[in-house]
Amino acid sequence: MQVDPTITSEEDRIIDAAFRDVLNGYLASNHRKKVEIIERAYKFAREAHAGVRRRSGEPYILHPIAVAKIAQQEMGLGSTSICAALLHDVVEDTDYTVEDIERHFGAKIAQLVEGLTKISGGIFGDKASAQAENFRKLLLTMSEDIRVVLIKMADRLHNMRTLGSMAPNKQYKIAGETLYIYAPLAHRLGLFAIKTELEDLSFKYEHPSAWVDITEKIKKTEAKRQAIYSDFSAPIREKLDSMGLEYEAKARLKSCYSIWRKMETKHIPFEEVYDLYAVRIVFECDDPAKEKQICWNIYAAITDLYRLHPERTRDWISTPKANGYQALHLTVMGPDGNWIEVQIRSRRMDEIAEKGFAAHWKYKIGEGEEESELTVWLRTIKDILDNPEPSAIDFLDTLKLNLFASEIVVFTPKGELITLPTDSTVLDVAFTLHTELGLHCIAGKVNHKLVPLNYRLSSGDQVEVLTSHTQKPQAEWMDFLKTAKAKSRLRAALRRERQPVIARGQVMLAEYLKRNKLPSSSATNAKLLERAGLDNFDELRYRIGAGEVVLEDSWASSLLPGAPTEKSILKSLLRNTIKVATFGKAGKTPSESEKKEVEKTTETERPKINTKEVYTLRYEDGTPNFKIADCCCPIPGDEVLGFIDDNGEVVVHALTCPRALVLKAGYGPRILSTRWAVSSGKFLAHVRVEGIDRHGILREIIGVISTQLDIDLRRLDIEATGEIFHADMWVRVEEVSVVNMLCANLLTVDGVERASRIQ
Ligand code: MN
Repeated sequence: MQVDPTITSEEDRIIDAAFRDVLNGYLASNHRKKVEIIERAYKFAREAHAGVRRRSGEPYILHPIAVAKIAQQEMGLGSTSICAALLHDVVEDTDYTVEDIERHFGAKIAQLVEGLTKISGGIFGDKASAQAENFRKLLLTMSEDIRVVLIKMADRLHNMRTLGSMAPNKQYKIAGETLYIYAPLAHRLGLFAIKTELEDLSFKYEHPSAWVDITEKIKKTEAKRQAIYSDFSAPIREKLDSMGLEYEAKARLKSCYSIWRKMETKHIPFEEVYDLYAVRIVFECDDPAKEKQICWNIYAAITDLYRLHPERTRDWISTPKANGYQALHLTVMGPDGNWIEVQIRSRRMDEIAEKGFAAHWKYKIGEGEEESELTVWLRTIKDILDNPEPSAIDFLDTLKLNLFASEIVVFTPKGELITLPTDSTVLDVAFTLHTELGLHCIAGKVNHKLVPLNYRLSSGDQVEVLTSHTQKPQAEWMDFLKTAKAKSRLRAALRRERQPVIARGQVMLAEYLKRNKLPSSSATNAKLLERAGLDNFDELRYRIGAGEVVLEDSWASSLLPGAPTEKSILKSLLRNTIKVATFGKAGKTPSESEKKEVEKTTETERPKINTKEVYTLRYEDGTPNFKIADCCCPIPGDEVLGFIDDNGEVVVHALTCPRALVLKAGYGPRILSTRWAVSSGKFLAHVRVEGIDRHGILREIIGVISTQLDIDLRRLDIEATGEIFHADMWVRVEEVSVVNMLCANLLTVDGVERASRIQ
C-alpha cells in the first residue's frame, strides 16, 4: 500500500485493525466470500482520503470503515454493500468520479455510491424546496435499491455516535434531523436496535440534563429490578426447561428516550413509569413451520404461572407488522404487582426484529411467496413521489405521518387485508383501494353498520366503501385523513378543482386592471394582496373567481404605482419618529448625508442575529428581545431554543415542544442556542392539582400559593366530580424552580394526590 506520510505508525495499526475487524465479521457470516473486492475497495478509499482528518482529529478513513462495520455487523449486509460503504464519501469528498468507481468496481457498486452521493449533505438544506428535493431523492433511490438507504442509515448512525466532536449548532441540526426522519425510517425498515440507538443519541444531545437524570436513575434502580426479574423468571425457566426447549431469556430495559417520552406525555415522574422493562424469550427452532406452535406453548406455560392482562396480548405472528416484525407479546402481573410485558420469539424472528429488512434476505424462503408488506410500502412511497407536493413541509409532514404511525389492520368484504396508520378512517380505506373510490366516497359500512366517512377504524374491522357519482372531494377531508397517499391524492384533486376558478379570477382581475387603467405588475399584485389580507396570489385569484373577494373600483387610486402601501406608511411613520428622536435632542437639523444615513439604517432589516453565538434572552428597556411560543409556553429554567421567525424576531420554544422538533429539523440555520438572562421577567405557568375533595381544601391550596409562597395567581379553574377534584391554575413566576417548589408544597396539603406543571 502507498504510504501516507500524514499517518503515524500507531494510527496505521489502528486503521488496519479496524478494517480486519470488518473483514473477519464478514468471513464469519453466511455470505459468499468475496474478499478480494472488499480489500480493493478499502485500499482505494484509503488512498483517496489520504491526508484528510475528521474534526475529531482522527484519520478520515476510520469513518468509512466504521460505516462498513455497521452495515456488515449490525445490518447483516454483504460484499456489495461493504464496498459501497467503504467508498461512500469518495465521490463526494475527493476528485474521483462515479465513472472511476464503475471502472474499478463495476456498475452495481458505482450505482450505490452515486445514490449515496446524491443524498449527501443531509436531507434538509437551507431552502425549503431543496429540502423536499433531497428528501425525494432519498426516497427515490430507496425504492430503486434499498441498500442505499441502509448504508445511509449506517453513515448517520456513525455520525451520531461521534457527534460529540461536532460544533454545537451542527449537533442540534443533525440530532433534530435524526429524530425527525432517520429514526422513523429505521423503524419502518424494521431496524429496531438502530432506531432505538438513534433516538437515544439524539435525546442525549437535545436534552442533556434529562438524559443524565434518567441514566442515573436507571443505574440506581438496577439492583432492585434485577431482584424482581429473578423472582419473576425462575418459575418460568423451570417450566420451559421441563418442556425441553432451548432458549434464552433476558430482561430488556426500556430505552432512555422512551422512558422520557412516557414521563413527558403522561406527566409522570420516573418512579411511575411502570413498564420499565420487558422480558424477552428467544427460542431455537430449525423448522419455521413449528415456530407458531412453540410460541403458543410458551404463552400457555407463562399464563399458568401469572395472571394475564386481558387486553394486552399481541399476535404479530399471524399478522406481522408492515416492517416484517413477528413475535407474540403478552402482559402478565409480576410478583411485585406490576405488569410485565413478555415477548416470545424464535431466533429467526429475533434477527428480523434486530436487523430488519436485511435479515429477510438471509431467511428468504422459496419463490412465489406473497408480496412482503415492505414492498407494498415502498410502492406507496413511489406513488406519493409521482404526485409531487407543492410545499416541502407539507410533503415531509405527510410522509412522516406514515413513518411514525403505529398500525391497524382492517379487512375488505372479500377478506383482503389492509394495513393502515392508527386512527385511519373509512375515507383512508377508500383512497387506499383506489383514488376514484376515495374522491367519490360518501360513507362506509363498518362491520355491516352504516358510518360516516370520517369514522375512525379499529384493528379487525371489516370495511365496505360506499360511493356516489355526485360526490366531490372536499377540503375539510384533509383534517381527518391519516394516510400519506390519500392526503397527497386529495390535495392534487383539490388543486385540479380550483384551476377553473383561478382562471376565472384571473380574467376578472385583468378586466378590473384594464377598466381602472392600472398596470399589471408585481407591485400592483403586492398591493392587492395586502388589501385582501392574503399572502398567496393563487389564493387571491381563487377568491376573486369564487366571488369571495370583490374588487372595488374605489381601491384603484391606492393601487397606482407610487401610492404608499400600508406597510410603507407605517415605515415612514416610524422613520419620522426616529428622526425626531435622534435630531430633536441635539437641536440641529440633519445634514443631507446624515439624512441618507438614517434612511439606510431604517430601510435595512433589523440587526442580524449571530446564530453561531449563544443568544441571551433578556429585557431591554422593559421590552423582551424574544417572544414566548404559545404552543409550549416555556419559562426560565426550561431547556429552550430560539427560532428566528419571518419577521426576524426570536421565538422561544421548549425543547420538548413538538413544534420545536419540526423547526430544528427543517430550519437548522434559523435555530439559536439560547440562555436566559439572570432575571428575565415573569412568566405564566400552568399547574394542575388533583386530589380527594374535602371541606376547606381549596382555602388551604390558595393559602400555599398566596400566603406561604407569595405567588401571583392569575386564573383558577376548579371542578369536583364525586370525591375527586381537579384544579387548573395559572401562576406568574420567574422560573421553573418556583413552580417546582409550589408543586412540592401543594403535595403536603392533606388530600392533594398530584401537583405538576402542564406544558
Ligand atoms: Mn459519511
